[in-house]
Amino acid sequence: MRFDIISVFPEFFSVLDLSLIGKAQERGILSIDSHDLRDWTDDPHRTVDDSPAGGGAGMVMRPDIWGKAIDTVLSDGAGAGDEAGSVVVAIPTPSGTPLTQRTCERIASDAHHVVIACGRYEGIDARVAQHYAANGVQVIEYSLGDYVLNGGEVAAVALVEAVGRLLPGMVGNPESLVEESHGAAGLLEYPVYTRPVSWREADIPAVLLSGNHGAAARWRKDRALEKTAARRPDMVAKLDATALDKKDKATLASLGYLVPRGGTRPVPVRAREATPRDALALSELAARTFPDAAPAYLTDESIQSFIQQELSLARFQKYVANDRDRVIVLEADSKDLVGYALTIVPEADGIAGLDEGAPVDALIDGAERSGPLLELSKFYIDRQWRGSGGARILWDFTLADLASTCDKWANPGIFLGTNAANRRARHAYRKLGFEEVGTRQFTVGEQDNRDVVFARGLRVP
Ligand code: SAM
Repeated sequence: MRFDIISVFPEFFSVLDLSLIGKAQERGILSIDSHDLRDWTDDPHRTVDDSPAGGGAGMVMRPDIWGKAIDTVLSDGAGAGDEAGSVVVAIPTPSGTPLTQRTCERIASDAHHVVIACGRYEGIDARVAQHYAANGVQVIEYSLGDYVLNGGEVAAVALVEAVGRLLPGMVGNPESLVEESHGAAGLLEYPVYTRPVSWREADIPAVLLSGNHGAAARWRKDRALEKTAARRPDMVAKLDATALDKKDKATLASLGYLVPRGGTRPVPVRAREATPRDALALSELAARTFPDAAPAYLTDESIQSFIQQELSLARFQKYVANDRDRVIVLEADSKDLVGYALTIVPEADGIAGLDEGAPVDALIDGAERSGPLLELSKFYIDRQWRGSGGARILWDFTLADLASTCDKWANPGIFLGTNAANRRARHAYRKLGFEEVGTRQFTVGEQDNRDVVFARGLRVP
């Protein structure tokens, strides 16, 4: 690959004779020539700029000088293999598209001649980029980031390094390119360590020294997901969901990203307290999700009558407006509700849901109940989000919310009833730390059901 860099400071590029890029030049993998733009001027002052058309501060680089310079290096480098995309004019500018690893990969694989035009002052006359783009040259106006440098020289060195290291034969062990930040996985790299094992009271994580390659790989993937979520949430939102395994999805869920059923990308979700504005969406979600948990013997009539009486808009307006009961929603970034939890909080430090079979005499967390009992009356995740890890996020938030709103009470407990036949729900509640403590009668419409009652303490041990 041939690089020609044109600048008013051609001596700047001696840095490219160092290190890997320097060695690659010696080995003939790439060639780099820097040129002084002023060599194409024709006045004694070797002027390359003029005042901006339309007025304003600063100076603009002249298109006629740039045109002569670029034409010369393009024709010097012209070869038989010049096809679309193989000749690139790269123009660094803070108003360009951000330079990415994908762009560098494309240049490394398709181009054989790259001309870099380094601007100074207020930049290069806009007609230069237009002219070459209109004449069969691939023009890339790229930015190194959202800040302004004095000139394009640093950005030129960055492009040569980023593209150069991808050329075949450049990096000793091509494996080292695979797991890098911005690689095919679309993640930032996990943290890396080397000897000494202990340094200033910080140790290398034991799993990396354990010799268990599977566990080390999992640890690295989890740290990469964590780092990416913390620093570059935009990258997490672009991950290909089909390339994520179950454990990746579980880690992402713990970081607040869920993949819905049939979804192609992770979606950021967040739990929060419901407001009166959620009441309508809550009643709709409740009406959608309640039938899914109902046992097969319940008639449509019973289900509909329950929905009308217990899950109406008016009911949710009341729950949300009242200060005691707690309604927590889990919402996607689209503002769609993913799930909700409704907890009935007793007056003073009493017992909620007594008439519906609160487990007043149950052992809770292995000890006799001594404190008040709250009832987790509804806990539902919408259909397409089930199995995505949303229940855990909703529950963790609900538990923290209840623990803090009930912190004045000693040993509060929480219980719930779920239909005995609903094995999926029973399994899910066990995973959330509930234990089966008894049964109760629960009426839907005119029909009686046997519910299994689960309970646990409210305090996080
Ligand atoms: N007036 C220009 C603007 O506001 O977009 C800024 C010109 S800047 C002072 C001078 C030159 O520095 C640019 O022509 C470009 O070559 C280079 N430059 C500055 N910031 C850059 C960045 N973030 N990425 C790439 N090149 C940059």
